[in-house]
Amino acid sequence: MAGFTLKTYPWVYVTKFDGQAWKGDSILNPHLTPEEESKLNEEESANLFKKRNSFLDLPVINYTSQYGLGCFEGLKAFPQKDGSFKIFRPEENAQRFFNSMTGLKMPALPTEEFLEGLNDFMSKNIKLGFFPKYNPEWEKDKYLSGHSIYIRPFSYSEAAIGLGLSFKPWVIMLATEVGAYFSGGTHKAVTTNMIRATEHGTGWIKSNSNYVIPTLAKKQAEADGYMEAIFLDHKHQKYIEEGSSCNIFFRLKDNTLVTPELGDTILPGITRKSIIQLARDKGITVEERKISIDEVMSEAKEAFVTGTAAGLTHIGSITHNGETANFGDGKIGELALDLLENLKGIQYGAIEDKHNWMFSIK
Ligand SMILES: *Cc1c(COP(=O)(O)O)cnc(C)c1O
Repeated sequence: MAGFTLKTYPWVYVTKFDGQAWKGDSILNPHLTPEEESKLNEEESANLFKKRNSFLDLPVINYTSQYGLGCFEGLKAFPQKDGSFKIFRPEENAQRFFNSMTGLKMPALPTEEFLEGLNDFMSKNIKLGFFPKYNPEWEKDKYLSGHSIYIRPFSYSEAAIGLGLSFKPWVIMLATEVGAYFSGGTHKAVTTNMIRATEHGTGWIKSNSNYVIPTLAKKQAEADGYMEAIFLDHKHQKYIEEGSSCNIFFRLKDNTLVTPELGDTILPGITRKSIIQLARDKGITVEERKISIDEVMSEAKEAFVTGTAAGLTHIGSITHNGETANFGDGKIGELALDLLENLKGIQYGAIEDKHNWMFSIK
């Protein structure tokens, strides 16, 4: 996804389950001052970030590296006008991470400890002065060019080689620099006949293993000239499920907004949940239900995908079985833009946070 970088910030949080309790702390990795780091040449900078990405004696052979038994989260922090930083809905990520770990049958990190760890390492990074400062220039395009900080918590298993469950996992949280999301390039999407998730499987878990098929499908779609691959249900190849790692929405000609209903094959996105709320706040009818590819091809007038990394990205057309449906004139649709500006406005503190979504780093 656009904007991701391997430039991690120096403070990370590490906690491990010892069989009884979670024991965690923030760790400071090799760093210079922000000023000094900005002056490094490419090689020096690469070396520094390599050290920052190799900070623990984690076992190489384990359930995560061998069998994909692991889960993760993605969330973002936003610079505020008053110089502080706020994280978007971290309680939701804490709960989903707990559910994912539980779904993978490993001891789950309690949500309070997730939030404490998150706050601790983020506030220590703020003190070092690395995070991007609020820039009033972003107000000009309603924060579409705004910078943010991407936060990645993930689990990592103890050493192991046979098949088994993790009883003493680590949870690691780190933050990385992320650039503005530039919506350059194509916005064409294509359906794939690959299957992302099946009933009774792990599709609802934000697990490492779920990312293999979407990566293959998306890279194939890109090789064929598209931006995104769209998954259909595994039983009938008829109902829309998700994009490659994003939830999906359609605005129909009758102005209702439709998104596939949650179930065990769809990831419960926090952006999805927020967009549904923002649309309902505007008096728009939102339906969470099955929606077939045929209905989309004939009835949709806007389409977009949602996720923390992409925010909200419009889809200009969908190609299915050789036929293409175009939505609008290729630019972002009216409702999609309105919702995106609304979401960004809340995240950067320009629009009232009615639902108490923003978490102040203390
Ligand atoms: C993470 C993810 C999403 C988006 O979830 P957000 O909470 O909005 O970031 C959607 N689909 C899949 C498969 C995902 O892994």
